[in-house]
Amino acid sequence: MTRDAGEGLIYLDHLASTPLDPRVLAAMLPWFAAQAAANPHAQHRPGWRTEAAIDHARAAIAALIGARPGEIVFTSGATEANNLALLGAVPADWPVLVSAIEHASVMACLALLGARGHRVTILPVDGDGVVDLESLQRQLAGGPAFVSVMSANNEIGTIQPLDRVAALCRNAGARLHVDAVQSLATAALDIDALGIDLLSLSGHKLYGPQGVGALFIRDGVKLSPRSLGGNQQEGRRAGTVPTALAVGLGEACRLARREREGDAARLRILRERLHAGLEARFDLRRNSPGDHSLPGCLNVTIPGVDAADILLDLPELALSTGSACGSRDRTPSTVLRAIGRSVEACHASFRFGLGRTTTAAEIDRAIGLFTAAIGTQR
Ligand code: PMP
Repeated sequence: MTRDAGEGLIYLDHLASTPLDPRVLAAMLPWFAAQAAANPHAQHRPGWRTEAAIDHARAAIAALIGARPGEIVFTSGATEANNLALLGAVPADWPVLVSAIEHASVMACLALLGARGHRVTILPVDGDGVVDLESLQRQLAGGPAFVSVMSANNEIGTIQPLDRVAALCRNAGARLHVDAVQSLATAALDIDALGIDLLSLSGHKLYGPQGVGALFIRDGVKLSPRSLGGNQQEGRRAGTVPTALAVGLGEACRLARREREGDAARLRILRERLHAGLEARFDLRRNSPGDHSLPGCLNVTIPGVDAADILLDLPELALSTGSACGSRDRTPSTVLRAIGRSVEACHASFRFGLGRTTTAAEIDRAIGLFTAAIGTQR
């Protein structure tokens, strides 16, 4: 897969959104054509054909995580999937436990859960962003709970020890939801081996389209829907499934399953090249853990610089200071704060997100551009 350099732009923001893989686009395009028009829920020939394409996509999504196709519900993205899990699948009166560095679409549900009478506990993380397993175990000693822990963090890349989280949950009869948005493009994950009950994923984090995602809901887990209307997707999520987007998500999952290992190995090498290049020029602090972190993620603090200003000086480079969801204001990153960084450090931090299209030449050029921009500010 190659990427149009777009007037020399170097795209290093794959954690915010990955470019659509041309093979995914090719799979989607026929479903935008007039002759493919049909509601996948309609009872006629074009409707059945569309439904079959969606079923095929559902099977590819299920295969990526080891689920059964009937356990996959299409959503508009991972925000909706996380909302559906947190607001639709927590049994009445169960306490809710989440790590301190979950995505905003999980965190924003907590106030509502509290108002519904659930006891909500935020589990601390260590200096690498790894969830504190002793706190989890202590909280689970009180009886069954609903636990939500992400597979990998979207700002610093920390990969959580899901096997240990899941084992603790299993022993306590807890229900486990995993926001797996960031890890599926580069790491295998098996819901049965781990015993995960619910899992969220998103098209535009694995080279699929924006505007589509999915929630895996284990058979037998009761879900009260959040969108009401028709009986689509067995009443779990009303609304017409968008055929082209669903097909794109399916194709992206099929490719991810085949290519994630090779992508991960290549990205790890490129990330270390980037880190070495930056470290040779700056006195920096690495916020992403060296091991157990996403292969394409490097978050660093360069003390004394204003990261937001540097980005303005770098039109040739697309990277970010933190999560795109929080990048429009000057609120310090809750993730960096949770791992113990100061407010000043938050404002001096950069998140590099490498992806399938990133090349060594781009990394070398990015290091040069970045170094020049920091030199100008200083
Ligand atoms: N969870 C994580 C970890 C994410 O990084 C994101 C996207 N920033 C989301 C959930 C939300 O995904 P979407 O953009 O598909 O709503």
